[in-house]
Amino acid sequence: QVTDALAKEDPSSPSYDWFQTDCLVTIVIYTKQKDINLESIIVDHQDDSLRAETIIKDCSYLIHIGLSHEVQEDFSVRVVENVGKIEIVLKKKENASWKCLGHPLENHNSFIPRKDTDLYYRKCQLISKEDVTHDTKLFCVMLPPSTHLQVPIGHHVYLKLTVTGTEIVKPYTPVSSSLLPEFKEPVLPNNKYIYFLIKVYPAGLFTPELDHLRIGDFVSVSSPEGNFKISILQELEDLFLLAAGTGFTPMVKILNYALTSIPSLRKVKLMFFNKTEDDIIWRSQLEKLAFKDERFDVEFVLSAPTSEWTGKQGHISPALLSEFLKRSLDKSKVFICICGPTPFTEQGVKLLHDLNFSKDEIHSFTA
Ligand code: FAD
Ligand code: NAD
Repeated sequence: QVTDALAKEDPSSPSYDWFQTDCLVTIVIYTKQKDINLESIIVDHQDDSLRAETIIKDCSYLIHIGLSHEVQEDFSVRVVENVGKIEIVLKKKENASWKCLGHPLENHNSFIPRKDTDLYYRKCQLISKEDVTHDTKLFCVMLPPSTHLQVPIGHHVYLKLTVTGTEIVKPYTPVSSSLLPEFKEPVLPNNKYIYFLIKVYPAGLFTPELDHLRIGDFVSVSSPEGNFKISILQELEDLFLLAAGTGFTPMVKILNYALTSIPSLRKVKLMFFNKTEDDIIWRSQLEKLAFKDERFDVEFVLSAPTSEWTGKQGHISPALLSEFLKRSLDKSKVFICICGPTPFTEQGVKLLHDLNFSKDEIHSFTA
């Protein structure tokens, strides 16, 4: 039987309780925090075990229970934000009364720093794979029905495959299915699909294996990680995005979010660095978006263009940046996101500091 033996005596630490009706079992998590939402809770239900991890600031509160009775595969999760309460509603397989919730499994009722926790993986099915450029594809995977997981904007997950007995793990940043609303997949109510733009390197360790998966095969997906906070964009007026190659991936959801959810926004500009025109991910979507929404501009910079290219050329440089980073108003509130190969990001951040942008105005996406 689950007891409170491990519960912390500290009254500020999270706690849980449960109750039942004829057909439902509800587990209630009291986080004792206000800024809790559906991204704060990750639930996996497998066989008779239930694992619910609540992310509270830099800590993780784990409920891990071997359930005493069978429940149906799907469940619902509700968050009462203003009181920081989370409810996981399980459907009983049989309408019997439960005497106890179950027995504690590893680390049940623990509240520990996230850095001390292991990443948890669940198997996801490959639903579709679509060519985007000559080497980059849009992969769609589906979370199991028995998982609740939402990846926060700007965060990444790890994908894991076992190749000839060895586990290979690499990080990837989920994107939206498209930049344009008319091409977007209807969002399922519980966000079951996760999309990735992934470049396949022929000599790479992981990506050729991922590319070899057939539709219906499985890949393990970890819980999300990352330190980007979308709240930093509140009341923003100018957003500048500097992306190189697949460093474009974190920008996709940030761009969508900025254009739909920041009322103060005046301008979003993307400077997108690639080797050649053929390498530009979602070029026509970006151009269409810029045409449709006058707040958005995109500029392509190529490091290895053909002689026909009339646009900007070269690597990230003071000249390119100082011309690009013009504010729409003298003292507008700005934010800059940068992502790409490590030398690109490092040089970019240095150049931004040289141009007097402060640490608080820059987010660099790194490993
Ligand atoms: P690797 O085995 O790492 O090789 C990559 C390339 O380098 C190959 O061409 C290989 O031949 C070459 N190479 C390998 N070792 C050497 C060496 N010693 N000397 C010279 N060349 C070498 N990528 C995406 O496509 N999409 C994303 O959304 C994405 N998100 C990311 C998020 C984060 C936080 C981070 C850190 C990275 C992200 N990446 C993303 C990159 C991704 O994690 C992998 O690094 C990438 O997919 C390459 O993996 P791989 O195992 O196939 O290739
Ligand atoms: P790529 O080799 O096609 O290069 C794209 C552009 O990056 C080049 O055209 C050039 O402008 C710039 N660039 C490349 N090397 C440079 C250097 N040494 N100095 C200055 N600029 C340079 O890029 P890719 O193969 O698409 O690789 C994308 C990189 O982005 C990967 O290293 C990946 O790990 C990283 N990435 C990181 C994150 C993250 O940290 N969150 C997310 C996605 C991708």
